Formats: sequence, structure tokens, C-alpha cells
Amino acid sequence: MAMTGIREVARVIEPQYVIEGAGVLLRRSIAPRGSNEFDPFLLFDHFAFNDPIEGPIRGFPMHPHRGIETVTYMLEGSTHHRDSLGNSGLIGPGDVQWMTSGSGIMHEEMPRRGPSGNIYGFQLWVNLPAKSKMIAPRYQEVNSREIPVHQNGGVKLRIVAGMAEGVAGPVTEIAAEPLYLEAELAPGSEFHQETPGDYTALAYVFEGEALFGGQKVAAVRMIQFGAGDRIDVRAEDSSVRFMLIAGLPFREPIAPYGPFVMNTRQEIEQALQDLRNGTFIRNQPA
Ligand code: MN
Repeated sequence: MAMTGIREVARVIEPQYVIEGAGVLLRRSIAPRGSNEFDPFLLFDHFAFNDPIEGPIRGFPMHPHRGIETVTYMLEGSTHHRDSLGNSGLIGPGDVQWMTSGSGIMHEEMPRRGPSGNIYGFQLWVNLPAKSKMIAPRYQEVNSREIPVHQNGGVKLRIVAGMAEGVAGPVTEIAAEPLYLEAELAPGSEFHQETPGDYTALAYVFEGEALFGGQKVAAVRMIQFGAGDRIDVRAEDSSVRFMLIAGLPFREPIAPYGPFVMNTRQEIEQALQDLRNGTFIRNQPA
């Protein structure tokens, strides 16, 4: 497999509607599976369907996580977050919460409507390597104002993690060495991004359409790129908005079970036993 050159579209995934939490309708494009095809990424959910006609907002009441990182990125509306150790806060429009669960956290995530009545955002799950699965939990909360925006011609980027156009995102010290950014391209504009050749690269196209590595993809779709060290996106007649996601694969076996992703079945059994015994929370967040 060529590790250099322009990455082509290897797969186009149509998100599936799923019901999660206390009845939240989501579009899910990837989910944790033993085959670990998107290593180091585990899950990508798009919540945009808490339309007022659907009635009261149901969120994600108290639930545990272990062995992963959950990344919440809001476009509209907000998510109120609260954990079992007394941390709480509001993730507002344009804000990011990068939560490293490590050994374990119990938290609640409750979406709230924005002034327009909409709730619109994404949750990405990033794996932790075996050696870091039981580290102390950690939060990186980034306010919208602290996320750098790079604008050049018809290309606008908001860089959450990693480096694009010489601009570094505020989220750092993540095992997967991720690139995570929001991109908006006006008609007729082009965007290029270098990535290490062996990194997994995905793009979640949520508005409009563009040519990705020469292939036209329209919203709403998840793209998995093939090998290469450069991503090329070109907007033709339409504008496009997408999340670009890339990271270092850990190449370890994974054992996913609901909100836990560990390396072995025994570690999942241990997590369930810890929950039953009240010993699940081992470390205070850093
Ligand atoms: Mn959660």
C-alpha cells in the first residue's frame, strides 16, 4: 500500500439512525467493534434531531466510561455535563469537551436547545492504548473563543487538535496524536492537509458536497480515506462543511462493551465487577 500521495476515498459510510441514552435519536456512522476498522477512532455520533416536534429533550443520564476518550463538539445548542465527582459545566455552541475517562468516570450529558430551538453537535470516541486505559480521568474543556480559526480565501478551519495551516489546536497530549478540525469550503475553493501516511483519516461531511481525493461525496456521509500522506478537498458548485479526523492507530486488540472499551474480555468483566462493588471510580480527575 502506498503511504505517500493523495488519499483516495476508501469507503463511504451512510450514518444509521439509532436511539441512545434515555431516547435520543442520533445518526451514528461508526461504532466500537472488535474488528477495530477505524483504529484509533471508535464511534462518531451526530445529534441533530432533537427537533421541537419530537417533544421533550431526553439526554444521557448518569453512565460510566472506562478506557476511552469522549469528545463533544457543539455547533448549536449546548450540552450540560455533570460527573459523579462534582464537576459540572455547559458545553456551548463552538465549545469542545475532550474527556479522557481513563480508569473511570460516571457522568451525565444533557443536551439543551439553542435560541433557534436546535441542538446540533458531534460526539467522537477515541481509543486509549493499553498502557493508558487506567490513567486518572482528565478533562480538556475548550471555550469557543479559544479555538483558533484559520481563514484563507474560501477556506475556513476551526482547529481543535493537531496542526493545520501552521495553526495548532488547543487540545494536546492525547495518545492518538489526533487531528480534529471543522472545515468549511466556499464553492470553488480547495483545501489540502498533510497527515502521516500510516494515520487513519476520516471526514464527516455534514453539509453540502465536494470532491474528496477526486471523488464527489455529498452530505451526510462519513468518508474513510485510504493510505497516503495528503488529503485533498475541492468544492465545486456547492459549499461543503465537514469534520476532519486523523490519528495514530494503536494496533491492539479491543474488547468493546457499551461505554467501556478495553483490550480483553477479562478487563470488561473487571469493569462490571467494579461497578457492582462500588469500586469503579479509582482516581480523581487530574
Ligand atoms: Mn458519555
